[in-house]
Amino acid sequence: MENKHCVLVSGGAGYIGSHTAVELVEAGFDVVIADNLSNSDISAVEGVRRITGVDVQFVDVDCCDRAAFDRLFDDYGFDSAIHFAAYKAVGESVSDPMKYYRNNLGSFMNLVDLMRAHGRRNILFSSSATVYGEADTLPVTELSPRKPATSPYGNTKQMCEDILRDSVKAYDSLRGIALRYFNPIGAHPSALIGELPRGVPQNLVPYITQTAAGIRECLSIFGNDYPTPDGSCLRDYIDIVDLAKAHVAALRRMIGGGGERYEVFNIGTGRPVSVFELVETFERVNGVSVNRKVAPRRAGDVVAVWADTSLANRELGWRAERSLDDTLRSAWAWEKHVRGME
Ligand code: NAD
Ligand code: UDP
Repeated sequence: MENKHCVLVSGGAGYIGSHTAVELVEAGFDVVIADNLSNSDISAVEGVRRITGVDVQFVDVDCCDRAAFDRLFDDYGFDSAIHFAAYKAVGESVSDPMKYYRNNLGSFMNLVDLMRAHGRRNILFSSSATVYGEADTLPVTELSPRKPATSPYGNTKQMCEDILRDSVKAYDSLRGIALRYFNPIGAHPSALIGELPRGVPQNLVPYITQTAAGIRECLSIFGNDYPTPDGSCLRDYIDIVDLAKAHVAALRRMIGGGGERYEVFNIGTGRPVSVFELVETFERVNGVSVNRKVAPRRAGDVVAVWADTSLANRELGWRAERSLDDTLRSAWAWEKHVRGME
């Protein structure tokens, strides 16, 4: 039998990790998902298996538990790792910073150390557009300056980028790519996997879908007096399957040995969308209404950020393809699936 390239997907039971696992399997990779299910459910792994028809391996492990993580390296012969395992609630990171520094830095430092110790090569890290903060010029390119982080969560993204950059520089055996995601939204077209927020959603799209489903009473639009065309904030909403495919492209680049040993790519659509436009598009394509009101600005929000994606388009041969209409249809299909509304 042909020997497939095996990939560790740490945090692979989560929202982005599960979609990436699907795209990896469909692209011909072997996948090992490692997750402690601290912010996810085993049903996501079952969804990955159902979509792909492959019995993808799952290991319940805390990446901060070095001895347990080490055993996983002994047990599986992957040569590449995609690291999603982190906490991501910005507000919680402000009130409980040590929880974020311990988990996000600890899990990543263990990964880098163990990749090196076990002679494994390629590390793909989940970074974020949050590193750009309130940018001076838009769209942001990979050369746009990183701004001082406004939350411990954002700080862990900058610190992990630096850990990867410095490690790749120092240790010849490693190479790394940091993908800076813009705003991932939507779900797999099968509606078998999607975003599963715990408690009250903090992000816009899950709040919209839960309001449309009647679980939340009213969507608050945080601010209509920003210096933007309609007064609401602008973001670059990237479809989750497109985002997942960017990981496959980045992995292939590392495996193929192209490019520099450490690289950074923006992963977005290149198109700014306002909060009002997003809500109205959701209503139009799904034929549902979303109860909403304008509320005060949310502390810490940047006014506008969107990506210059030309580097990823050119170097990774990747671009966002799914339309916003289709992405928002998938978000609603997923919400209905979760609520048993079909
Ligand atoms: P998620 O919470 O759905 O997935 C993260 C997964 O990691 C979860 O399944 C969780 O159980 C697991 N995990 C956390 N700590 C772990 C640990 N110590 N050991 C093992 N597993 C652990 O989040 P997501 O939206 O899929 O995000 C994935 C990554 O992408 C995160 O690093 C996040 O910071 C980053 N990111 C997300 C967004 C976004 O908007 N969703 C944007 C930019 C970057
Ligand atoms: N937003 C909103 N109401 C909500 C959640 C978010 O108006 O209930 C706005 C938020 O102010 C921002 C945009 O939607 O302008 C995207 O917010 P999200 O939290 O999804 O992403 P991020 O702030 O990380 O870009």
